[in-house]
This record gives sequence, structure tokens and C-alpha cells, in this order.
Amino acid sequence: MDTESMESTPKTTHPISNQNKIAPPGCSFLIQQTNPQDIFITEEWTEEARMIFNTTKEFCTKEIFDVIKSRGAEFDVHDDLEEVVVILEKAANLGLCGVSIAEEFGGIDLDFNEGLLFSEATAYGFSFATTIGAQVSIGSLPIVYYGTQAQKQQYLPGIADGSLKAAYALTEPSSGSDANSGKTKAVFNTDKSKFIINGQKLWITNGGFADVFIVFSKIEADENLSAFIVERKFGGLTTGAEEKKLGIKGSSTVAVFFENCEVPVENLLGERNGGFKIALNILNTGRIKLAASTMSGCKIAVEESVKYAKTREQFNQPIANFGAIKHKIGQMGVLAFATEAAVYRTGYNINLKVDEFLNNGKTENESKLGAIREYAVECSLLKVKCSEAVDYCIDECLQVHGGMGYMAEMGIEMGYRDARITRIYEGTNEINRMLSLAELTKRALKTKEVDLVSAGKKIPGYLASQMLPMKSNAGWKQEERIVKNIKTLFLLLSGRAGQQLQKKLADEQEMVMNYANILGEAYIAESVLLKVQKIEKNNIHTGVDFEIRKKAMQVYLYEALNICRKEAYDSINAYASGQEKFWLKKMTNVLLPDYDINAKDFRRDIAEYFYEKGGYGF
Ligand SMILES: Cc1cc2nc3c(=O)[nH]c(=O)nc-3n(C[C@H](O)[C@H](O)[C@H](O)COP(=O)(O)OP(=O)(O)OC[C@H]3O[C@@H](n4cnc5c(N)ncnc54)[C@H](O)[C@@H]3O)c2cc1C
Repeated sequence: MDTESMESTPKTTHPISNQNKIAPPGCSFLIQQTNPQDIFITEEWTEEARMIFNTTKEFCTKEIFDVIKSRGAEFDVHDDLEEVVVILEKAANLGLCGVSIAEEFGGIDLDFNEGLLFSEATAYGFSFATTIGAQVSIGSLPIVYYGTQAQKQQYLPGIADGSLKAAYALTEPSSGSDANSGKTKAVFNTDKSKFIINGQKLWITNGGFADVFIVFSKIEADENLSAFIVERKFGGLTTGAEEKKLGIKGSSTVAVFFENCEVPVENLLGERNGGFKIALNILNTGRIKLAASTMSGCKIAVEESVKYAKTREQFNQPIANFGAIKHKIGQMGVLAFATEAAVYRTGYNINLKVDEFLNNGKTENESKLGAIREYAVECSLLKVKCSEAVDYCIDECLQVHGGMGYMAEMGIEMGYRDARITRIYEGTNEINRMLSLAELTKRALKTKEVDLVSAGKKIPGYLASQMLPMKSNAGWKQEERIVKNIKTLFLLLSGRAGQQLQKKLADEQEMVMNYANILGEAYIAESVLLKVQKIEKNNIHTGVDFEIRKKAMQVYLYEALNICRKEAYDSINAYASGQEKFWLKKMTNVLLPDYDINAKDFRRDIAEYFYEKGGYGF
């Protein structure tokens, strides 16, 4: 199918009717039960949204995936920088660089969830996902959200039509995770008409060809960063050689040097000292977009594994027949299915929250930023879970390909190397785990947005109820109980540790990681259960199509229980002793019962279903 310009796509606001839907508060999943009808599932994409996906996927497949396969070598900016720039410009011609930009500035302004679908499709471009991601997300959203009308007018049309290439420059040699500690300095010139910037940025995506850089720097002796729109042509801005990297070799990554770079004061973005806030808010957006594209990587891993397993024969039969191979393919499918449910549940909630804020009189930008901020915890959890899922999936995909997976010609080893960065950028996974807990704690104790205190008070009664035998496991009772128990486990363990260790808990990072992992499992497990419940209730898939989806959900819950059991024991052993330790372990066992399913057979069934469908069949 030919790719078709998205600029001609008629624009409707949100893909599905939001009438009568209320956005749940961020983090409320932890303490509230969600009605399956209130979540968005991908079966509900409109034709328009599907077209966005198909156009983007076809573009990335034709321009990158197929080219890599036919020439047997990946794009490498050391040799192919111009070619990569041309592909970005072709993408812009199709409207793909304007997905986040308002129509008045030449974009197509997708709603948030459609934007995630776009990110999912870009994964078919491998490292190009990073290139176009920097253009449409971190490199331009600071202007979209914080720019003045004049700044938007000046820069956004060029970014949308590809005549301007954008980059986001925060990291410095001495300032990575500690992003506010950068040494780059901006001072006023004598008549205060310009800032003079000196310093250095490191590993800037698109830096090798970008015309416009969002630069974060402190002004004079300020405590916090400010943000600036800096054009290469201002002078005093030079870029280093392309870095030699493990993966995403088709994406430009360079150092950026500022030597008396003169920036007009009108190019200050947002408020002085407000840059750190901009940086963090933009990264929240980047995180969930990255979650969407890494989740897509899991699906691609399934597709490639199925294709190869069906054709590669050993011991006189296709390797697809072997249980060990079915296990891998089934488990990849489970991860893709479950993380997808959580990604688009969150994206839709962000859409609803935008509407709610708009209805309450906030401006469009305030509404968009506020909505993303509302789900900061979910965005961090998703970034962690999806980036780790894609690493698992591509590793297993390589294994399915055996020695052939190790050879460059199949492109699998490229995917393996490309995927690894996703645990590092947009905030490392360690930082995101800590952020999710810190933000949740703030909302519980400081701003009181999430009532964990009341939830905590209900735990003893709930634990007592769980010690009694279940009256019935009919319907979804068992699965609902598992999800509720994982949430309760999180509240119990993090609450007890918080009481015992108080502020010292933040220094016990290993335990913070344990709790963040349990929280992430709770969110994904609930999302995939809700999705399957909605599918059943609305008769969306029936027969075997439904049963296999249900099995995928059940295997996810089965694994989540195992993960949470380990995380719980690790955290208890890390600090508790005596009666406290005994009791916490006992309660962990009460909350995480045996889930009596045959996960082996379920994974086999999922793999066979994919074989029949010829790829990722969900
Ligand atoms: C290919 C590539 C492209 C990039 N593109 C961009 C870009 O476009 N723009 C940009 O601004 N930056 C970019 N970056 C930088 C990226 O965002 C940083 O690498 C990332 O934020 C981590 O910083 P760091 O590498 O300095 O690691 P560090 O901060 O030095 O961390 C090293 C390790 O220590 C851990 N750690 C750090 N602090 C803590 C803590 N408090 N507690 C526990 N553990 C901790 C980290 O999790 C990590 O495991 C890019 C990086 C790469 C590799």
C-alpha cells in the first residue's frame, strides 16, 4: 500500500467519544477499582487513527526496514548522515514531523493517545525512531508547550515541514541523571539584549544536523536551569564528531559546544529558572512515548521470531514445533499484549484529563501539560516496564534465530543493540523507579492527592479476609483478587518500611527498586485484566480469539505473582527482623497465593495461535 500524506487526514478531536467519561486521578489505580468499560482498548481505534499508524509504519518499513534488509547493513551516521536527514525530510513531507504541532503552525496535532500510536509505528524504523522522536517530541515540544506565540510562529512551521531539524540539549559531561547540576552558563551582554552562552552538552540526538537546539543552562548565578531556543546559525555553537555507539547507529549523537554563543533574550523559553521544570515535563512525555515504541519492539520481536521459527528446520522439523521455542514466543506475546494495554489505557486517561482541564477553563497548553503531569508516575512505570520488556523480547528473538540471529544480515543483532539504549535515556530506569515512588509519596503525604492513609487503614481488615478460604473463584474473581492483592502488598510493604525507616528509606535504594517493581506489576497486571474483561463484556473477540487473549492475561498475572514474591522477600529480608519479618512474610504468602494455571500450555497455545496468524496475532 502506498503511503499517503497525513496532512489530508480530516481532523477530529479524540478518536473515541469521551462523553460522560471522567479521567481518574493519577496513581488512583492503586487505591480504586476501575470499571473495564472506563479504559480504552486498542480494538477501539478509529479508522483515522489506524491510518496514522499504517502510514507511519509503511513509511518506516519502506524507507528503513526494507532498505536495511536489502543492502544487508544498518544505517550508520558516520557514512549515512545525509541519507538519514533526507529520510527525515521525506517523513516531514508526509506530515509526520508535525504530529504534535497545532494546525495553525502547519502540524496535524494528534491527540495524546494517537501520538502514542504514532510512536508505536516509528519502531519499524529502528534507530530512526530516535531521530524522528527527537524532532517531534523532546526537540519541539518545549516550544509547543512553553513557547510564546512569536516563538511558535518562528520555529514550529519549519519543524513541521522539516526545513528545521530539532534537538534537545540537557546532558553534560558532569551532569547526567543529576540534570540540574550542569555547568553551562548564560550571562547577559552589556545592553541585556542577548545571552552569551558558554559550556558543553553531551550525546545530543540529532545534534549532527540540527538547526534548532533546546538548550538548558543556568543564567548568571541562578540556582535552577533556564531553557533557550538556540539556532546553529547564531554562531558560537559547534558540534563534535558523531559518537561511536553500541546501537542506534543510524541516529546522530554528538557533543555540542557553546563558545560565546549569542542568543537574543526573546529566545528564552518560558520563565527564567523555569528550565528544569520544562526539562522534567518534557521527559514525562518522552517516557510514555518511549514506552509505546519499545512495546512495539516486543511485537516486532514476535513477528520476526514467528517467521523464522516456521521456516527454520532442525531435526527434520520446523523449530516452531519445539516447546522451548513456543515458550519464548508465547512469553514475548504476553509481554507485548500486557504492556500495550497499560500504555494506551494511560494515553487515553491523559486525553480525558486534557478535556477535563479544558472544560475547567485552563488554556490548551496548561491542560496538556497538567494532564501529562497528572500521570507522571504511570509514565515512569511504563518507561521502565516496556524498555525492560523489549530487551527481554529482542534477546529471546535473537535466541530463536540461533547463530543467524548473531549475524548482521538478519538485522536481529541490530535490534538487540538498538534496544539497549532505552533503559538509559529519558531518565535511566533506576531514576524512573525512584521518581515513581518519590512522586507517589509526595502525592500521598504532601499534596494529599492520593489518599494512601485511608487505604492503609483498610489493610488489616483486608488481610484478615484473605486468610479465609475463597468462597468462589467464579468469573474473574481470582484474577481480580490477584490484582488487588498485588496493590495491597505494595501498600503494606512500602507503608511498613516507611514507618520503620522513615526518611532513611530513600537511602535504601534497593528497597525502593523492589517497591517500584511491585507497583509496576500492579499497574500492568490490572491493565491487561481490564482489557480482557472489556473484550469479553463487549463481545469484541470471541471463541479462540478471546481464549488466547485471556490466556495471555493469565500468564502475565502468573508471572507478576512470581516477580512480586521475589521483590517482597528481598525487601523484607533487607531490613526487617524478628516478629515483623515473620509477619510480613506470612502476609506476603497470604496475598500472593498459588495461581493454578498451566502457564507452559498457555504459552504454547499463544505461540501456536501466532503461527496460525503468521505473526503477532493480537
Ligand atoms: C545514544 C544517546 C542519546 C542521548 N540523547 C540525548 C539527548 O538528545 N539530549 C540529552 O540531553 N541527553 C541525551 N542523552 C543522555 C542521556 O539522557 C543520559 O545518558 C542519561 O540521562 C543518564 O545520564 P548519564 O549517562 O550521565 O548516567 P549517570 O547519571 O552517570 O548514571 C550512571 C548510572 O548511575 C545510576 N545513577 C545515577 N544517579 C543515581 C542515583 N541518584 N541513585 C541511584 N543510581 C543512580 C544511573 O541509573 C546509571 O545506572 C543521550 C544518551 C545516549 C547514550
